[in-house]
Amino acid sequence: MGLVVQKYGGTSVGDAERIRAVADHVARTVADGHQVVVVVSAMGKTTDDLIRLADQVSTEKPKRELDMLLTAGERISMALVCMALAERGVKAASFTGSQAGIITDTSHTRAKILEIQPTRLQEALASGHVPVVAGFQGVSTDRDITTLGRGGSDVTGVALAAALGADVCEIYTDVTGVFSADPRVVPAARRLPRISFDEMMEMAATGGRVLMLRSVEFARRHHVPLHVRSSFTWEPGTWVVEEESSMEEAVVTAVTDDVSESKVTVAQVPDRPGVAARLFRELALKGVNIDMIVQNTSQSGTTDISFTVEKSDTAAAVAACEGVREELKIGSISADDGVGRVTLIGAGMKSSPGITAKMFETLAALDINIEMISTSSIRISTIVRAERVGDAVRALHSAFGLDA
Ligand code: ADP
Ligand code: ASP
Ligand code: MG
Repeated sequence: MGLVVQKYGGTSVGDAERIRAVADHVARTVADGHQVVVVVSAMGKTTDDLIRLADQVSTEKPKRELDMLLTAGERISMALVCMALAERGVKAASFTGSQAGIITDTSHTRAKILEIQPTRLQEALASGHVPVVAGFQGVSTDRDITTLGRGGSDVTGVALAAALGADVCEIYTDVTGVFSADPRVVPAARRLPRISFDEMMEMAATGGRVLMLRSVEFARRHHVPLHVRSSFTWEPGTWVVEEESSMEEAVVTAVTDDVSESKVTVAQVPDRPGVAARLFRELALKGVNIDMIVQNTSQSGTTDISFTVEKSDTAAAVAACEGVREELKIGSISADDGVGRVTLIGAGMKSSPGITAKMFETLAALDINIEMISTSSIRISTIVRAERVGDAVRALHSAFGLDA
């Protein structure tokens, strides 16, 4: 007998039939002698619908109220799952993030978990109930309701698994595991039976949205075994594991795509110490998260700096740059949301020369221009035109021998 945290994503609880299927699976797991804690996302596209609704009544969308609104989505799911469990004779009780003891900081819409006090969940388990927890939410140190950022139910699942000392955190979704590329983009993508935390973090950070990045970081830090699998077929999926020295390191494990960011370019900036520091301090003060950065060294005493940000942060990023335009004597500022990122990931890259050359040759053969490049020891990312991202991912997947 073990303790299992089962997290079900939006599609997995998308309608009444899906909720009944989830309840069946939870009931089976309980019948097998396990203790189960369930974490649910909002049904289907509920979160997107609620955001659209908010857009219709407010341009400002005060973040405290937006959080209050969005947490309603997960509450619907948790109550329905509990009802479906009751129907099957399984004792269950629903808990909001706050009731589950998930304490966060005060940064609304992207709050971080500071502490978990899962007393009520432990009491529920002790009395033979299945606690069903609303994902993606918590309560701040100011006692306001917060959300953990899009995809945040993954974090709830992993954090509860860590706090309760669960044997495994199962992430149930609409694909059968983690694939060598998004199966919706690359039909020939293969399911990976295992992937290392390092590789999974690079995937999550560069567009492989099957797991939210913070959930992977959390799982690694707290040694939570993660199993990503399907709530449609229930077959074994992908285990995210600590890298073992005996593990055969594939040179390239996966290719990811991401069109969620835009590129901002600050051109003809004086090439002297302190300019980049001032610019990025201003961006940080305005709460803009920066991803890739490229700077060209100049011959004429000026330089161009390009960086990528979440599309939703583009206006704030441009405004921040405008704010220091005179002070830094910036020539021009422009934003481009027609870009996409294509990334090659593989732990074996560290020890294999020629991967970069082969990647660039593959893109060149398709006449795809590379606008930015960034690398880590196990990743090579390129920025290309958004409309070429699909072609690039499929060609690289094939060139590196990943096609099924
Ligand atoms: P959930 O609602 O269950 O959290 P998500 O939509 O967040 O599901 O994540 C699952 C989706 O992630 C899949 O439908 C798939 O299209 C996408 N995805 C992107 N990259 C990958 C990948 N490498 N392997 C598996 N799925 C991926
Ligand atoms: N419902 C939230 C979202 O759509 C959280 C989640 O599904 O993980 O982002
Ligand atoms: Mg998700």
